Amino acid sequence: MTLTAPEATTGPTTPGPATTVAANPARGLVCRNCGATFGLIAEHACAECFGPLEVDYDPELMRAVTREQIEAGPHNIWRYAPLLPTGQDPADRVSLDPGMTPLVRAQRLGDELGFTAPLWVKDDSANPTHSFKDRVVSLAATAAKGFGYAKIACASTGNLANSVAAHAARNGLPSFVFVPSDLEPGKIVQSAVYGQALVAVDGSYDDVNRLTSELAETDEFEDCAFVNQNVRPYYAEGSKTVGYEIAEQLGWRIPAQVVIPMASGSLLTKVDKAWKELVAAGIVEDTPWKVFGAQSAGCDPIATAFDNGWDVVKPVKPTGIAKSLNIGNPADGPYALDAIRRTGGSVGRVGDDEIVAGIRDLARTTGVFAETAGGVTTAVLRQLVEKGLLDPAQETVVLNTGEGLKTLDPLAPVVGPTHHVQPSLRSLREAGLIA
Ligand SMILES: *Cc1c(COP(=O)(O)O)cnc(C)c1O
Ligand SMILES: [Zn+2]
Repeated sequence: MTLTAPEATTGPTTPGPATTVAANPARGLVCRNCGATFGLIAEHACAECFGPLEVDYDPELMRAVTREQIEAGPHNIWRYAPLLPTGQDPADRVSLDPGMTPLVRAQRLGDELGFTAPLWVKDDSANPTHSFKDRVVSLAATAAKGFGYAKIACASTGNLANSVAAHAARNGLPSFVFVPSDLEPGKIVQSAVYGQALVAVDGSYDDVNRLTSELAETDEFEDCAFVNQNVRPYYAEGSKTVGYEIAEQLGWRIPAQVVIPMASGSLLTKVDKAWKELVAAGIVEDTPWKVFGAQSAGCDPIATAFDNGWDVVKPVKPTGIAKSLNIGNPADGPYALDAIRRTGGSVGRVGDDEIVAGIRDLARTTGVFAETAGGVTTAVLRQLVEKGLLDPAQETVVLNTGEGLKTLDPLAPVVGPTHHVQPSLRSLREAGLIA
């Protein structure tokens, strides 16, 4: 199946005022390993070398995009449709319209860590299903519709499952979501509530991913788009919108440093790609930036490769509380390493106790309650500053990619009521709250 790049047209697609449909700037897929090029097809691996395929854009069309054009767009990821491979025509979108999440000034956290430059939290817990995954699923589901698939599916560490099921429910498209059976109860409930198929698999995420790859080859699932497999090139581009938004929210500037949690490593590579594109399009000034990666000690294959100077990533068996990041064999690991090394960044890893401390630090100083992945990022930020690897005199953005209510379990034993009283002033007095 192939996706056709529509010509730029003008005309009403839905009742209402005439809307301009932007041209699709994507001209095909390109192999990141050998450079072979393909049309806009539903494949994620190169037919020549099995390398990963990525969307390739027409530089002329990308250069034609302006700040004004973006600013005139909707208040969600689709304002960047002229820079994306799909969804130029609003009528084609299968989406919860995520994005334009808050960029929160973390003044008090910055003060504690010794920042003299601004520190910001990009809070993607504000997306419709409360993680950054809504961005990638909106792209993947829209591509799936364009290719004519009848259903969507995914292997997930939790947040992707939530988002795929919700996108399916909103758009009346059947979905099949596969997760490790030991997932956090919050993420099981948040996937199941949408009334779609939820398959709990006794195995790790990497086992689940292998299973769905095999499933994709069966006759029954021939008409199914696997959001992070056959339509992965389109899925991955959704992460670029995090980078676009940060730049736009800073007044069309790129921050000097960014700290990004890594599972497959895709999000990190796409934030970097987004900024390269904005520079190439002349939308922002070409100022240097450093990309920092964050992993948990329980699943640190990219951190280990970075420390050892390896170009390849050796798979690990994940453990620990940061389950949304527990991908032991990260598909984009080598490309994440490239971006980190090219920009002069670094990688940090933190254990479960530090992750919980990171969640509490962020909540205590910014009012943002992060899931474990955000705890990883916050704790890694502290570690990088303490080791002198990240400069507190340079403007910095940290990503909170998910909502704290999704992962209450590690917090429940360590936070709770500070006082326990009877409903009387006497009891409040005894508790020391009044004299
Ligand atoms: C999936 C996920 C990530 C990382 O995504 P990759 O693109 O696979 O590196 C980070 N944070 C949260 C909360 C996620 O769900
Ligand atoms: Zn190739």
